[in-house]
Amino acid sequence: MLTAKAEKAGRELIAVNPANTSRTYPHCGHCAKGNRPSQAVFTCQQCSFTGHADTVGAINVLRAGTALRQTAHAA
Ligand SMILES: [Zn+2]
Repeated sequence: MLTAKAEKAGRELIAVNPANTSRTYPHCGHCAKGNRPSQAVFTCQQCSFTGHADTVGAINVLRAGTALRQTAHAA
């Protein structure tokens, strides 16, 4: 369903494993359960970055998708 929609829109759809995308801070790479004190808040335990958890999660998913895409195109 999602794939068909993406193709219709001329887009590429990449399935990303969501594991750890909500608890890793992409800029310093620190991954910890404690980075998520609540559902909405993200606070990196290592560099003290604080932001919205959804924003951080979106960056991680985008990064994972981009990495998968590069791997697929290199193969
Ligand atoms: Zn950090």
